[in-house]
Amino acid sequence: MTEALYYKNTREEHFTASLVEQRARGKEWIALLDRTAFYPEGGGQPADRGSLNGIEVLDVRKEDNNILHFLPKKIESSKVQGKIDLAFRYDYMQQHTGQHLISAALYKKGNYKTVSSYLGRGYTAVEIDVADISEKQVLEVEELCNLIISRNLPVISHWVSSEQAARFPLRKPVPDKERIRLVEIEDFDFVGCGGMHMDHTGEIQLIKAVGREKIRGRLRLHWQIGKRAFNDYQNKHRTVTDLCKELTCSSEELLPGVIKIKEELRSQKQSNAVLQDRLARYIADSMLAAARDISGLKAFLHLFNNEEPELVKKIFDNLLESGRTAACLVNNCSGELQWHAGSSENAGLPLKEIIPPLLPLIEGRGGGKGNRWQGIGRDISGVQDFLKGVEQGILENRIESLK
Ligand SMILES: [Zn+2]
Repeated sequence: MTEALYYKNTREEHFTASLVEQRARGKEWIALLDRTAFYPEGGGQPADRGSLNGIEVLDVRKEDNNILHFLPKKIESSKVQGKIDLAFRYDYMQQHTGQHLISAALYKKGNYKTVSSYLGRGYTAVEIDVADISEKQVLEVEELCNLIISRNLPVISHWVSSEQAARFPLRKPVPDKERIRLVEIEDFDFVGCGGMHMDHTGEIQLIKAVGREKIRGRLRLHWQIGKRAFNDYQNKHRTVTDLCKELTCSSEELLPGVIKIKEELRSQKQSNAVLQDRLARYIADSMLAAARDISGLKAFLHLFNNEEPELVKKIFDNLLESGRTAACLVNNCSGELQWHAGSSENAGLPLKEIIPPLLPLIEGRGGGKGNRWQGIGRDISGVQDFLKGVEQGILENRIESLK
């Protein structure tokens, strides 16, 4: 049985112990000590981080009454110096004690029972036994939590029997065991727990509700707790300050300002689309006026440079809708080629015979159906040969169809 030091002093960084047993498992070594300050994983709280004789501890687990340390290599001495990563532990003690407080406040405010909790690296989540609660109720719970923090109430552990446990006003039933650890937030909450806790609620610092998700018909509330909540406030404050500077407004004016910008943007997009339609028609008309005739078919073979892709597509559509036409338009967008090839319905060009053999000229790919094909290409040096190839294909097929 390992003597657990972590309950006696939660802030002890260094400890000494004797090696009791050590064995290899795969690439890892499992070390058993006579005593340890390493908290093993449990109750949603991760195992402590730290080192034994300078060797990083990868994991700590409790099996029966033994606490096992998982290491990347063997401990060479029977005397062991342990070191705990207190910053990591302190963060999770804040999260875990904060979670007690949130669950208690949810219970007191609406009789909501905690079904499960999750202590992650980014946030702490508490899942409750109802499908939804209002934002107002969440804020009331948040306020109660921060009131209890400000009162700096002691957090007390009681080791009791099941019989003794029954005399406490427990928030939820405890298992029927010989020794049960009850954790009390003085006169506010009583619950069975084997985890690591702050000594006073004031050390939780701050609790803020930051999100919610619905999962399996229940509600999961997300929280920022302790130093994390403070960091979250700093980050959000910086973001709001930067946005206010960018928009030259106060934080109160930020939301209406962003809504107004979004509306203006939507309206500008609409008028841009109308103008683009007109421009596409205008360009297509001027191209039609200068079109080359290939055996009764107006042919357009054109290279655009860094043109709006949507505009090129609209010009292409306009050309194909203008009588007996065939078009191949390539847009060179900073080295990436976008191509459209097609013919009007009545032109009778077999594009699937003309286009695929020409694609290697531009390292291209793409496809299409019937009289409209499109794709991309990577080799700008082959564009003129590609366009000439399409022209040749049109010419040959027109001669063929006129025979
Ligand atoms: Zn606990």
